Amino acid sequence: MGAHPRPLSFLLRHFPRGHLTAGAALAALVTFALILPESGASSGEAERNVRASLELPPPEERTRQAGSEKSAGQEEARLEWKELEVRSGDTLARLLGAQGVPAGEVHRLVTADERLKKLARIRPGETLRIGLDEQGTLQALEYRLSRVEALHANKTEGGWQAREEVREYERQLRYTRATIDDSLFMAGQRAGMSTGTIMQLARIFGWDIDFIMDIRKGDEFQVLYEELFLDGEKVGEGNIVTAEFHNRGREIAAFRYELSSGDVDYFDFEGNSMRREFIRNPVDFTRISSRFNPNRRHPVLNTMRAHRGVDYAAPTGTPVRAAGDGRVEYAGRRGGYGNVVIIRHGQKYSTLYAHLNRFHVRTGARVRQGQTIGTVGMTGMATGPHLHYEFRVNGQHRDPLRVELPQADALPREERRNFLVQANRLRNRMALHREAFTLAQNTE
Ligand SMILES: [Zn+2]
Repeated sequence: MGAHPRPLSFLLRHFPRGHLTAGAALAALVTFALILPESGASSGEAERNVRASLELPPPEERTRQAGSEKSAGQEEARLEWKELEVRSGDTLARLLGAQGVPAGEVHRLVTADERLKKLARIRPGETLRIGLDEQGTLQALEYRLSRVEALHANKTEGGWQAREEVREYERQLRYTRATIDDSLFMAGQRAGMSTGTIMQLARIFGWDIDFIMDIRKGDEFQVLYEELFLDGEKVGEGNIVTAEFHNRGREIAAFRYELSSGDVDYFDFEGNSMRREFIRNPVDFTRISSRFNPNRRHPVLNTMRAHRGVDYAAPTGTPVRAAGDGRVEYAGRRGGYGNVVIIRHGQKYSTLYAHLNRFHVRTGARVRQGQTIGTVGMTGMATGPHLHYEFRVNGQHRDPLRVELPQADALPREERRNFLVQANRLRNRMALHREAFTLAQNTE
């Protein structure tokens, strides 16, 4: 009796077979991503970058490193640099020995610092850069560990000193927009976004929009996100800084904001968190087999009996997750529900998970959002394996797919002003990009 009855045929129309699987996979990933701690990055490359930026040296040193690879200081200015390629069978001693470096010096170098021990593990294909003074004595060495990480060794009066350098990506904002006519994933790909960035977008809006159930043909999004460059070459994508979704007539905007605590989160323009206290779907489902319906004929009893929850058809053994943080009020057998878990989330909310095959929690246990509490089964009154899920607000049954989910912690009052300034700036920036984008499209 819902306001938007959407049978399976609707889904298939909007997600052609191939995409349905992609959509389901996306939903699974989204659910998975939701329970991961905020990393603020999309790809492995970007994640590394986030870690890298935490370990960055102070700005003045950064500029110096970025400015010239050759001269890290005045003393090195007169050094002659050579690049040595590590070949099969090479050891550091052999490689440096060929350049006239005595074995004793190589030993002193490698043992001077824990970090310099890495030099003993050089592999074929890697390169070392060595700096020699006018007498041909080794004074400095550089070992590139990856595209962004390098190990430096400098000879000083006190012996060899090590320094690890992490290059910072150059970040540029890219604007793109797309209209969805099949799935978010396909639209994102057409708009030139990487899979990681599409997943980020899905993760940001995943609390408001169910990307399988809610997406309609004609929905739109626009997004401003970082592209990462090294030496002028694009090497990955970073964070979404702001995004806007037009979903079935709703307009939802999200802004990335770093709190003074260092935590990063996405907020709407009013400073409310995009996250919710509850996950919409407690199981990575393949399909919804029965909706919330106060006037339904019960399939087993064949009498009129309200369906006060949602059924997710899923194979026996599929993990069932706690929709939110809370305490297990009951885990055991109860009539037609079969094996059931009831979780209390504060005074106002409770959730119920029925027909479970196995329990992963006991009565009284504390659970975290996303934690597996049991597995899908068909205990109690069930015609096949599925999860029956109920959501209660002040003891009243609500449609789990439609109920307004409470927001997670809003922005602290003292951060609000700062946030608003930044959100405003991002909004203006997005508007400018949008204009330029539209202009470019029209002149094409
Ligand atoms: Zn049910």
